[in-house]
Amino acid sequence: MEIFKTIDDIKTRLSQLTGEGKTVGFVPTMGALHKGHLSLLETAKKETDISVVSIFVNPTQFNDKDDFIKYPRNDERDLLLLSQHFCDIVFLPSENEMYPEPDERVFDLGNLENIMEGKFRPGHFQGVAKVVSKFFDIVKPHKAFFGQKDFQQLAIIKRLVDVSGLRIEIVGCPIIREENGLAMSSRNQRLTPGEFSDASIIYGTIKQLPVKLKSTSLSEAKAWAEKTINSCPGIVTEYIETVDNESLAVIDNLTNTHSFTCCVAVFCGKVRLIDNIQIFL
Ligand code: AMP
Repeated sequence: MEIFKTIDDIKTRLSQLTGEGKTVGFVPTMGALHKGHLSLLETAKKETDISVVSIFVNPTQFNDKDDFIKYPRNDERDLLLLSQHFCDIVFLPSENEMYPEPDERVFDLGNLENIMEGKFRPGHFQGVAKVVSKFFDIVKPHKAFFGQKDFQQLAIIKRLVDVSGLRIEIVGCPIIREENGLAMSSRNQRLTPGEFSDASIIYGTIKQLPVKLKSTSLSEAKAWAEKTINSCPGIVTEYIETVDNESLAVIDNLTNTHSFTCCVAVFCGKVRLIDNIQIFL
């Protein structure tokens, strides 16, 4: 496994490899790696010749300074995990390497940045777009791999590729869960054992929606889900939203709808968690 810390060095190495006709698969991460991240690496290894994983806690996508400070970081453990999983190249840039000066670009993300995560985390997706567009420019991947756990982010990245005219295939990968159903997340490390166990109510509830919808309306089912999740002391729902699988347009009735995605954000104590499920009727 090769590790690069500067843009010049990784660019030189990658242009050598692509010059030999190798395809590049890219997995951007913020580190504190878990099996969700490793599943993206596995898919990248299957679908491309050279796997590149970046580890960078991107300051521009945090609307909450405290969340940025408390975000778990463990480069040594991450590098060990990546080498054990046969990653080819790791890119581990410093903040100064990525942002030698402020990135003032504004991306056209359409209505995608005004709903759900965009609404509750102002500026978050502009920050995501800034860093991913920089990474795409440096790594020039043939394919890039993103988790469906961050369902709205996946849609944002597809739009970024579209509006920037990039020829990168964006591959969405399934959500990897803990045994109790909780979607794996680096932020789960910040949960107490009690909170970790309580947080199973999130997926435990939304996965019951298809059955619930056989006997109630969408708005009643959403109200039921919110009440059920909030019935757990210490857990507070920030939003629960039902949207089109592709456009993410909000769906408020199910006429002519066969499938949609239910997205949820909750605070579990001080830790903010998101999850989603695609529902087939
Ligand atoms: P992060 O380090 O949280 O920025 O995540 C890096 C990538 O891993 C993103 O594409 C995430 O969607 C993906 N990811 C995070 N958690 C999971 C999970 N539980 N299952 C699948 N992919 C995930």
